[in-house]
Amino acid sequence: MASRPDLDGAAEGERRIELLGQTVIYRLCRSRRRTIGLQVDQRGLRVGAPAGVAQQEIEALLQRHGAWVLDKLARWQARPAPPPLQDGSSFPWLGQPLRLRLLPGLARSRWSAGELYLAVPPGRELEPVLRRVLQQRVRGLLLERLEIHAARLGVATPPLFLSSARSRWGSCNSRGEVRLSWRLGHLPLNLIDYVVVHELAHLKEMNHSPRFWAVVEGLYPDWRQARSELKRQALHLPPL
Ligand SMILES: [Zn+2]
Repeated sequence: MASRPDLDGAAEGERRIELLGQTVIYRLCRSRRRTIGLQVDQRGLRVGAPAGVAQQEIEALLQRHGAWVLDKLARWQARPAPPPLQDGSSFPWLGQPLRLRLLPGLARSRWSAGELYLAVPPGRELEPVLRRVLQQRVRGLLLERLEIHAARLGVATPPLFLSSARSRWGSCNSRGEVRLSWRLGHLPLNLIDYVVVHELAHLKEMNHSPRFWAVVEGLYPDWRQARSELKRQALHLPPL
């Protein structure tokens, strides 16, 4: 949520390292962050590092936390895999269950109350097609919320870019571009609005100073509750 570029916009690459005799593959994301950060989840190990840090330093840190990394990876691997998406599966959309319908021969995807009829062209994988449809849907919604809250704040609606981040819901850069995760579409509208308001407030205050929070509070008095709810929601996103 800070004025840093989103991790998804940074250079990424897969690397491997030996930790306590085990080969571990990880994804390295360079960005303008200040410290090296380790994250383990269902996708494996991700390392976020400042642009200037040497690979050697990153590897030394991984070695120091080798036991922690292996333990976390083992815990994630022991979890049951989520069931594959199929006709009738549901996942949260705008905070409500959305049922996925897969009908053979459907030419175009369409939305109806509580259901998404997804057209998957022959030979294509379901997930990427679904992500694309959800991204298109959420873009329209986010633009609408940006417009509404930009008008309340008295600023021009900024250009919107979508990211795929799972925990950094939004960011705003010094060029006044707002980047929002398409995964916000899974959340209730009141939380989406908080993220939109937060990033718009950065157009006035490019920091998290008391002045910044005062701007947020003017548009969204319940921001504290929304902020902690967002952290919880990030742990329960569907594995799309
Ligand atoms: Zn922020």
